[in-house]
Amino acid sequence: MTSPADRLRAVRERIAVAARAAGRDPASVGLLAVSKTWPADDVRALAALGQTAFGENRAQELAAKAAELADLSLEWHFVGQLQRNKAAAVARTGAVVHSLDRSSLARALSRAGEERGRPVDVFVQVDLGGAAGELAERGGAAPADVPALADEVADLPGLRLRGLMAVAPRGEEPGPAFARLAALAGRLRADHPGATEVSAGMSGDLEEAVAAGATLVRVGTALFGSRPLTSPRVTPVTGVPPEGAPEEV
Ligand SMILES: *Cc1c(COP(=O)(O)O)cnc(C)c1O
Repeated sequence: MTSPADRLRAVRERIAVAARAAGRDPASVGLLAVSKTWPADDVRALAALGQTAFGENRAQELAAKAAELADLSLEWHFVGQLQRNKAAAVARTGAVVHSLDRSSLARALSRAGEERGRPVDVFVQVDLGGAAGELAERGGAAPADVPALADEVADLPGLRLRGLMAVAPRGEEPGPAFARLAALAGRLRADHPGATEVSAGMSGDLEEAVAAGATLVRVGTALFGSRPLTSPRVTPVTGVPPEGAPEEV
């Protein structure tokens, strides 16, 4: 049995080794601990070791954990596909949203940012495609649509564009996919100099992502262990529609 401290140290070491191999400063790569399905106590254990950024992929689970851990100063990130009718609930938790992939969601999140009086930090998620070049459809805007979507995000008053996010496609080497992401990120920075971040890399492919310039890796399994097949029950939080609720029109 490895301890949370051992696992955190091992992940940080993997990031540092990958960064140095790419001629990068290990401090230029942030670590987002993806705590989805894991109870708040496991987040607490990692927080006690100095980890501050945590990611969730369900609005209700995020709201419940953020409320339960409100005594800690944690930075929350939302990495799952987001329905428009949950944009306000996610914004209220203060989370950075990694999965902005369409105009309607951009407008809903911007409204939520204006309502809470502070812009929502967002990454535009890119669909890097499947092995045969088609879209992988795990969320994300088609690469060709990214520049226009980024322009729209940059113009919305309730959003702050931080950069691009992607998940490596299944059934393909992650390196070339992350290289495509890096090229898009370079183009994005030319148009939006403040959007410098690249959220990419998970437990299985963080080295390839760091080699391609990721500034934030999202790691779940290597920190917390293999996820159970079903999520633990979370305390319902008022104001968050249940998962699977239909999108508002
Ligand atoms: C679950 C998840 C991760 C973490 O994946 P692991 O393989 O467990 O490290 C990263 N990014 C997103 C979008 C996720 O949903």
